[in-house]
Amino acid sequence: MTKTLDETQVDSAEVTGAGKARTHAYAARSPESGLAPFEIERRALRPHDVKLEILYCGVCHSDLHMVRNEWKQTTYPVVPGHEIVGRVTVVGDEVKKFESGDLVGVGVMVDSCRECSNCRRGLEQYCTVGKTLTYSSPDRITGEMTYGGYSKTIVVDEDFVFRISNELPLAAVAPLLCAGITTYSPLRHWKVGKGSKLGVVGLGGLGHMAVKFGASFGAEVTMLSTSPDKEADARRLGAHKFALTRDAAEMKKLAGYFDFILDTVSAKHDYNMYLNLLGTDGVMMCVGAPPAPAEVPIFTLIDQRRSLAGSGIGGIPETQEMLDYCAKHGITSDIELIDIAYINEAYERILRSDVRYRFVIDMATLR
Ligand code: NAP
Ligand code: ZN
Ligand code: ZN
Repeated sequence: MTKTLDETQVDSAEVTGAGKARTHAYAARSPESGLAPFEIERRALRPHDVKLEILYCGVCHSDLHMVRNEWKQTTYPVVPGHEIVGRVTVVGDEVKKFESGDLVGVGVMVDSCRECSNCRRGLEQYCTVGKTLTYSSPDRITGEMTYGGYSKTIVVDEDFVFRISNELPLAAVAPLLCAGITTYSPLRHWKVGKGSKLGVVGLGGLGHMAVKFGASFGAEVTMLSTSPDKEADARRLGAHKFALTRDAAEMKKLAGYFDFILDTVSAKHDYNMYLNLLGTDGVMMCVGAPPAPAEVPIFTLIDQRRSLAGSGIGGIPETQEMLDYCAKHGITSDIELIDIAYINEAYERILRSDVRYRFVIDMATLR
């Protein structure tokens, strides 16, 4: 399914020009509009910029939250997409890390202040001045809104571009740029590994990567799902156990069982029920970002000294570390490759929890 570079080589100014260039994209114009073809302009290359021809872009549930303005922070028109892989076609005069032809990735951020204490220690996602997101975020220099990866090309500062192994199937690497790092980072931060009992809530894009990483790090992984038909897949992905969260008797059996729970759920749900599955000093790491606030009775935390924590994507050095880890261990995402014209239907399937386990857009279908 994955194309070789030669097959994807394009030689238009859109892709290889260093000046301002118009490029094809898909955008939503309002929360209700859905996504449709759109033209955007990519900036002329700054000295440290690289331009890439986007080959594949993963579809994250965050794209859907943003397109529908569920987090109340979207600027329209919005071109989503932050799981980008492609090939460098032009580089700015002072670019040191990349050259034309390199396979690269771009994730959720394209810039940050570089100077605050968090930026200095590689935690750009927590930049205290404010990071620039890959889409619907003002550029630090011009103030213009960024446009994401549902498009043919993108221009990004080299410091926010990652090296990609050419050993792995490229389309299945794309989701690592968000679903991958968002699950890798908390598992590393809280040192989940041999001897840990990990519960993963929600078998979607993030959840299936969490199962793979959890098992790869040596933890005992239990999939906590609302979908009985995902059990076989969960086990194939590396889960040792599977439990249906809508089965009250099963939940009762697992009370106090876990050291860690990684919650990837995108919709309103009962945090308290999952917290009760943690043992003493257990940590519930929340990465799923439902728009509604979480209601948590504080006694659930006081009892057993439990922690409820959050985690956002991962920093630039850790994202490269994760990509290198995946290359070394042969870890990629399980994907369904789609034509970009299928995107609105794909969103509906994501909402029905019917994604197995990440949609990835083949950008050759965008003309
Ligand atoms: P996804 O592919 O749609 O997966 C979400 C899964 O959650 C579903 O497949 C389903 O799994 C489960 N689920 C859905 N509705 C549920 C409900 N009402 N109750 C219980 N479980 C439910 O989404 P994703 O792309 O993995 O993203 C998940 C969430 O993470 C989104 O909110 C996204 O915005 C957020 N996110 C956060 C970060 C960050 O930095 N923190 C980064 C990326 C994404 P089962 O069928 O197994 O129940
Ligand atoms: Zn994402
Ligand atoms: Zn900063």
